[in-house]
Amino acid sequence: MNDRGWMLRCRDAGQGIWHGELKESAAPADGARYEAEGRWLVLSDGAGPDALPLAAQLADPDQPALVRQARACVAEFGLQVGAFRLSLQLGKPALPPLLAPAVRVVPLRSPTLAPHTCTNLYLVGEAQLALVDPGCECAEELSWLEAVLERLEARVDEIWLTHLHHDHVCGADTLRRRFAAPVRASARTAEDLHGRLKVDRLFDEGEILERAGQRFEVMTTPGHAQGHIVFRALEGGCMLVGDMLAGVGTVVIDPPQGDLKAYLSSLRRLCARQPSLLLAAHGPPIRDAVPRLEQLIAHRLRREAMVLAALRAASAPVLPRDLVPEVYAGYPKSVYAAAARSLLAHLLKLVDDGLARREQRRFMALGA
Ligand SMILES: [Zn+2]
Repeated sequence: MNDRGWMLRCRDAGQGIWHGELKESAAPADGARYEAEGRWLVLSDGAGPDALPLAAQLADPDQPALVRQARACVAEFGLQVGAFRLSLQLGKPALPPLLAPAVRVVPLRSPTLAPHTCTNLYLVGEAQLALVDPGCECAEELSWLEAVLERLEARVDEIWLTHLHHDHVCGADTLRRRFAAPVRASARTAEDLHGRLKVDRLFDEGEILERAGQRFEVMTTPGHAQGHIVFRALEGGCMLVGDMLAGVGTVVIDPPQGDLKAYLSSLRRLCARQPSLLLAAHGPPIRDAVPRLEQLIAHRLRREAMVLAALRAASAPVLPRDLVPEVYAGYPKSVYAAAARSLLAHLLKLVDDGLARREQRRFMALGA
């Protein structure tokens, strides 16, 4: 460490991961707590001891590219996970962050949607691991995964899927062959994947999975996808939520797999269990779990009210895309196609709730 370094600031290590950014900072005031504003790189203990050699590398003023990379990693994943992801890129894999008892994360590049670039592969267990959502096909990234497993001296014995989407399952076949580990999913996901990917064993609603002394309950949570499931730790409040929500931004509800009414009731079900940590398939861990779930429900209901008002104001039956400029006023045109899918999900829910009627592809308000 020298005075030309950078500082990765962690507001309070006791809070765990800070969704921080790389900041220029003054020399650290003391060994435990660092305030920003200067030019030091310090990874606080929130990032774990493995990150310290990494910090030394990043402090190298002759490596601006590395510093840029670090910024991007930390901005995308938060401090702890970002530092780990960077260690993979640098070819010196650190131990993957332990986010909850028996749950580690290895984010891997995947064919997913912006703003995300990775799918978080969760490692559940210790010596015997289940891999959750292997959504990466890239040989280089999978070789990093192997290096990480070697460091952990762990063996993979199962592959768990939260749902059918490509950015969650595309590495499953490769990893099944590599580790001779069965692929498991819900019955509905297995059916939807038929012909694309073989599922070896099904999960049942309420099934309890034991890993390294921790018990996880399988919860069926349709909405983002019909066969979506969540793994809930029975102790400690951690949930592996797949695409029920994302660390950053919102998830797509795209009919017919997407069903907004089912989605909202699944979110309420998760909320009722009072989780304290949500581990999504994309983005950093979510520690304000219940407020985030409540915000998400409120956000969808606000949008629904806008859709209903726009539908009532329309003088003739409308196509979903007709309402986009009004309901998504202020959004760039580039999101209009996705917004039209989301609007369709809202309109179908209004039909289901008896507030709208559908005639072929057009919708009109009922009553009022
Ligand atoms: Zn998905």
